[in-house]
Amino acid sequence: MLRVVADLARNIAQLVYPNECLICDARENEAGALRHGLCSDCHRAVTTDPFPVCPWCAQTVGPHTDTAKGCGECRGVSLGFERAVRLGPYEGKLRDAVLRTKVLAGEGLADLLGRTFVEARGTDLATVPVDLVCPIPLHWWRKWSRGYNQAEAIARELASGLGVSFDPSLLIRIRHSTQHTQASRTARLENMRGAFRVRAGARLVGRTVLLIDDVMTTGSTASEAARTLRAAGADRVVVAVLARR
Ligand SMILES: [Zn+2]
Ligand SMILES: [Zn+2]
Repeated sequence: MLRVVADLARNIAQLVYPNECLICDARENEAGALRHGLCSDCHRAVTTDPFPVCPWCAQTVGPHTDTAKGCGECRGVSLGFERAVRLGPYEGKLRDAVLRTKVLAGEGLADLLGRTFVEARGTDLATVPVDLVCPIPLHWWRKWSRGYNQAEAIARELASGLGVSFDPSLLIRIRHSTQHTQASRTARLENMRGAFRVRAGARLVGRTVLLIDDVMTTGSTASEAARTLRAAGADRVVVAVLARR
């Protein structure tokens, strides 16, 4: 029991005053100074996107792909959101980092990744001026069992970095839908339909919302959340994700 308490205290101290990289555990003196809790190797790895990216759906594209009207994945598809920005692809150190945020002790890391995101992609994020930032919510049961919503932690930091309002309870998840990445696009969208609602009394008419998630896989969750916001009056919806699969 004492050991558990000591480990917990150490974990909390490490999150508040990190002296080890939160991704690879390298100690500060070996790794140089940490930036937002990350050693210089991990910081460089998560902030350097090695691939050309579709400006509409944030998917990796080939070096000479014409993305003026979208990429192979989103061309001719109604996404529900206007465009998507990513920190990077879901691989390597960024994938390791995202996996580490999915436990309660990862909350501090999710905050720091949010700060890193706005610092590294602030220009992309500011292309469309937004009025407010909201996370894609977890179903209450999942949030309770995980202890927090990592998308909410990332969104809070993005809102603060961009200097716009943060509204963590704007969207409410009515039910949890399991993602079937192998299913057809139509089946996935059908599966997500009605998964969200907007908080009663929210004033969205004419406003632009920046919608945040940790990982975007098929885009069907973000599409449904964006449609829900627009049906409630939002003018435009832009999506930002830490990592795109
Ligand atoms: Zn590291
Ligand atoms: Zn695309």
